[in-house]
Amino acid sequence: MSTLFNRRYDASHEEHATSNSKQAIVYLVGAGPGDPGLLTLRGKECLERADFVLYDQLVSPQLLKYAPESAEKMCVRELADSHPDRWPHVHVKLIEEARLGKCVVRLKGGDPLIFGRGGEEAAALREAGIPYEIVPGVTAALAAGAYLEIPLTHRSLASAVAFITGHEHPGKPTSRIDWKMIAAFPGTIVIYMGFSRLNSIIPELILHGKEPGTPAISVSRASTGEQQSVTATLATLDDAIRGAGLTTPALVIIGPVVGLRPVRSWFEERPLLGKRVLITRPRQQAEEFAQRLQELGATPLLLPAIEIRDPADWATADAAMEKLRDASFDWVIFTSVNGVEKFFNRLKARGRDLRDLGATKLAVIGSATADKLRTFHLEPDVVPGESMNSERLLLDLRERIHGKSVLLVTAEQGRESLRLELAAICKLDVAVVYTQVEGVDARSEILNLLRRGEIDCVTLTSPNIARAFLAACDETIIGRLQRGEIHVLSSNSRTSAVVRERGIQKIMESAKPTNESMIGVMLKMYAI
Ligand code: SAH
Repeated sequence: MSTLFNRRYDASHEEHATSNSKQAIVYLVGAGPGDPGLLTLRGKECLERADFVLYDQLVSPQLLKYAPESAEKMCVRELADSHPDRWPHVHVKLIEEARLGKCVVRLKGGDPLIFGRGGEEAAALREAGIPYEIVPGVTAALAAGAYLEIPLTHRSLASAVAFITGHEHPGKPTSRIDWKMIAAFPGTIVIYMGFSRLNSIIPELILHGKEPGTPAISVSRASTGEQQSVTATLATLDDAIRGAGLTTPALVIIGPVVGLRPVRSWFEERPLLGKRVLITRPRQQAEEFAQRLQELGATPLLLPAIEIRDPADWATADAAMEKLRDASFDWVIFTSVNGVEKFFNRLKARGRDLRDLGATKLAVIGSATADKLRTFHLEPDVVPGESMNSERLLLDLRERIHGKSVLLVTAEQGRESLRLELAAICKLDVAVVYTQVEGVDARSEILNLLRRGEIDCVTLTSPNIARAFLAACDETIIGRLQRGEIHVLSSNSRTSAVVRERGIQKIMESAKPTNESMIGVMLKMYAI
């Protein structure tokens, strides 16, 4: 009894907490150094309840997916008069949005309080009387240490670490950094933001007695697929950086611990490190693929060529759901992941649930569709054959559905041939549960990357996607695809055929239309 009581008590408590969480508040959240997996759980919780997100330019765009779709997301770059000092505008914006009663997340690179001016933002909020919380993040130095396998402290080599900004010119009389003291610092030195001033910082350190042969390393974009590093000594580092063409954001680590670094760290051994892979499928289906690519070291870039929306009219779906409730169907056939998702969401929105399916048999096209069905705790009765296309499904099904009452759950653009074939052998109803809107966002910066040939591989997973993607490509991009400067990876022959129509002959095709199969092709192609 007392357990029940406790549970009830907890539940009401939670409800209270949730309603409170929507009160005006600003969360200053550290987004980590670049790898989206390094966001803290607390940071994710804050994003999930955000109404407004103001994010730094360096923050991984992938983190924004945790915020509700309805939340406004703004990059600090977009703030008016952003130059030369945009911080007053950041403060004003945070206060303005919070005063509208919103839950505001200020998403900052690395840790908010390490060279991030988070302290100033917090002070402004305090002065304005706005409640706030500070959520720490993994600062760039710590990520660099982990992803390069350099222990910043070490029992016999370094008992202290100093984080220093190289932002200030050492020669400046007003400089707040005493480089003489830094040169004498008995531990590892990490310099943030010092990239362009190394040519004056390093001589200053050496002048004040730092050993020129001290191991040193510079790393740019640590923890991302674009991580690059160059190892040298203090005396040779500046030249080495220039030679390697490192770009910002980058930091420098100086100290004997740098000598402990393996030739290639666990991270640098990832087989797809540095590869930029374009994902063109709908955003809702990109996540798993993107995550897998990321774990292999690649940088996934999202440019959806198709958007999944509600159908213009739910009439066919609603009528079908009425019939389903009366147990009028022998079979329901799902042709896509979206179909499953949208169908059950609609069922729920109508106040119904899985029991309406009763003993109705279920068939699916594609193993991904089967997996999606399983997330609703439903096991398909007909599991797709190897080729995973509708023809194969029909072979498996033909006898079983002959003369039966069948519901086909599909998109507005669903394949006519399948409908006709089914209609010829059974009593067919069709439920249209979503529509696909084709088209690539023409303003996307990714199109410029394609123009410049700065993408390694474009993945295309359906004829519609291929058509919509190719329609957005200008002649420069098409030329690069034709010459094989940007690789095309298609997941099935119908998609490849569409690509070939545009004169692109160099196409890699995966044996199966699955993420794993496509990744297998990339591993063969790129593995180092
Ligand atoms: N608050 C941030 C630092 C902001 S200052 C943090 O805690 O990490 C910006 C500087 O951080 C850059 O100039 C660069 O020196 C460093 N930096 C940020 N992200 C980095 C990354 N992924 N790799 C290397 N340096 C990085």
